[in-house]
Amino acid sequence: DTMIEARDVVRSFGQTPALRGATVAVAPGEILAIMGPSGSGKSTLLHCLAGILVPDSGEIHFDGRRVDTLDEARRSALRRDSFGFVFQFGQLVPELTAEENVALPLLLGGTRREAALRQARPWFARLGLDGLERRRSGELSGGQAQRVALARGLVTSPKVLFADEPTGSLDSLTGEQVLDQLIVAAREHGTTVVLVTHEARVAAYADRHVMVRDGKVAALAPERVLS
Ligand code: ADP
Ligand code: ADP
Repeated sequence: DTMIEARDVVRSFGQTPALRGATVAVAPGEILAIMGPSGSGKSTLLHCLAGILVPDSGEIHFDGRRVDTLDEARRSALRRDSFGFVFQFGQLVPELTAEENVALPLLLGGTRREAALRQARPWFARLGLDGLERRRSGELSGGQAQRVALARGLVTSPKVLFADEPTGSLDSLTGEQVLDQLIVAAREHGTTVVLVTHEARVAAYADRHVMVRDGKVAALAPERVLS
């Protein structure tokens, strides 16, 4: 049973090969950590799985259908309807309030402002952000901002949450708290998570780990991750 998978994906940037035949499958509800050294192709693999980048060759399948051959408008609709994103630097809109940032994916999907804000609000209590709803996101601490980014990633109840170094910009204690909340929220909602990290400490939260090296995916035994 597979929620999302990459089959033999090749992707280069000009002369630079980023993926050289990467294959990985993620089961529904699974939390998969993609590990590997800097420059090995982790982000490129995540972007291909998420329909942000198109492979040069190979296939991406989501929920039983091939999606890498969809045109940009359909891939964009797929991202909006089925995927959530959390990136290393939250990429919040600094002039908007925290609740407007959380509501953003709903607004982009056509939900009316009041309804979108109503749907955004419960996430503040859930993620320990009470009282910060109206704060401009440019005035949040790093940990608060990343929790807001997490809420924004989950507010549409995505089938798959893509998280690229979601705690990479935080100190280790704050990072662990954000990660705990990401995992708890994902488990509560049965969300499939694809988590990119180069930190073993972060990967320890996942159900399963794979290692990307030189643009290819290798399975990694759990004891290797934790040692
Ligand atoms: P990782 O996430 O493991 O650090 P990336 O997937 O970001 O690795 O990058 C893999 C390789 O592809 C690297 O050599 C990187 O420099 C290159 N690369 C990634 N994105 C781009 C891009 N937009 N333009 C040019 N080269 C890129
Ligand atoms: P890292 O190297 O840590 O992964 P990046 O800056 O490469 O950091 O990650 C952000 C990438 O993802 C950028 O290429 C950006 O264009 C893309 N991106 C970010 N958010 C979205 C989104 N919601 N939809 C499509 N592409 C996005």
